[in-house]
Amino acid sequence: MKVVEETPYRFRVEREGSMRVPGVVFASRRLLPEDQALRQVANVATLPGIVGASYGMPDLHWGYGFPIGGVAATDIAEGGVVSPGGVGFDISCGVRLLAASVDRDELRPRLEALMDHLDRGVPRGTGRGGVWRLSGRSELEKLLHGGAAYAVEQGHGVPRDLARCEDYGAVADADVAQVSAKAMDRGQDQVGSLGSGNHFLEVQAVDEVYDEATAAAFGLRTGQVCVMIHCGSRGLGHQICTDHVRVMEKAMPRYGIQVPDRQLACAPVDSPEGRSYLGAMAAAANYGRANRQLLGQAARRAFADVLGAELDLVYDISHNLAKIEEHDGRRLCVHRKGATRALPPHHPDLPEDLAPYGQPVLIPGTMGTASYVLAGVPGGQAFHSTCHGAGRTQSRHQAARSIDGRTLRDQLQAKGIAVRGATWRGLAEETPTAYKDVDAVIEASVGAGLCRKVARLVPLGVVKG
Ligand code: 5GP
Ligand code: MN
Ligand code: MN
Repeated sequence: MKVVEETPYRFRVEREGSMRVPGVVFASRRLLPEDQALRQVANVATLPGIVGASYGMPDLHWGYGFPIGGVAATDIAEGGVVSPGGVGFDISCGVRLLAASVDRDELRPRLEALMDHLDRGVPRGTGRGGVWRLSGRSELEKLLHGGAAYAVEQGHGVPRDLARCEDYGAVADADVAQVSAKAMDRGQDQVGSLGSGNHFLEVQAVDEVYDEATAAAFGLRTGQVCVMIHCGSRGLGHQICTDHVRVMEKAMPRYGIQVPDRQLACAPVDSPEGRSYLGAMAAAANYGRANRQLLGQAARRAFADVLGAELDLVYDISHNLAKIEEHDGRRLCVHRKGATRALPPHHPDLPEDLAPYGQPVLIPGTMGTASYVLAGVPGGQAFHSTCHGAGRTQSRHQAARSIDGRTLRDQLQAKGIAVRGATWRGLAEETPTAYKDVDAVIEASVGAGLCRKVARLVPLGVVKG
């Protein structure tokens, strides 16, 4: 594999073998990942119908088939494919940020009480149970069609929330008939739950603002307390991915598709298998949005009870999704896996009041370092995409061997960060040292022209999945 440094923040993986396009990785020399992830970028470049390049974001690392931090678009009219591995198992995993009516100094004396309340009010771990008890299968179906919009309709939130959600809280093309009974079973009791280790609800403070006007438009100011929620579609999304990978593995020979890695199983977007996956994926996307809506409500109750404070939604965005989008007059299926859409200013899909500023982009770092709010920029790159986090450098296993959960909790507490974990092992797997330097990832993302900085947030307390 030949990798060429085109600029300090852009590296090209040269076309070779069956690659249809080159690979382009936005990174710095220091961030450029190990060979395995670059190999995956090259593998994705062989997919039928892929256009432009197989892209990697600065937080790129190894994933199932596609790398995490990967972006790939296929031309639907040219037999372009959709691949469940290009979305990932946690369909519509994403981030929601809420801004509080209190500042850091006002919260300080009540922080432990607030964290205890959140600890009790936020279901997590791998088991069952969520904030919202659905009345039955028929209500789950309504939620799969309506997403966060259905949740708000049922009183879980306010209508303004939806103007701050990607797709106004729901995509229209969910096809519940493509969701297996097993997936429905797994989803029935998990609405309003975090899930495992990498997912969290974090209380943060705005530490620095880089652009006052944009921050104000997003509802943010220095010193303000925020809540960042990271979670996805739980067992339902996972089962949908599993089911559809299996179907596509079988279907590929019929379409004459060969891939260098079985985990890249795919089918033409315009085929029964492709449509079936996209319909099920949309249902999971709506589930993920409803999930974050309900957890946002749990946070609102805690803030109201403990502080008499309010939380306004800043934005909610997925970082694991395939979307049908128009770029340069072509209908493309854009896969973003561990990558965030970053619409430029004045894009028609932005709500009017955000149009002058570009789309808010929410980037978690780690529970011990900073997180960021960014904005989309004119032009942009990789079909308007940027990073989704710091990105792992160590596997969960390596991380858990490097530190004991209790020691880590004590270290974080000593830095003034209140920790409410689910298990000691889970906490250790998420040690900040298992991730890349988020400041460097953001610098590379901005340097590469993917986005711009709006604000930097620091952790005050974390409820870990
Ligand atoms: P992923 O979706 O790939 O599991 O995670 C997205 C990103 O979340 C990771 O790359 C990491 O940077 C970030 N992250 C993981 N755990 C935490 C946490 O407890 N707090 C914050 N602020 N970020 C985290
Ligand atoms: Mn996830
Ligand atoms: Mn995620």
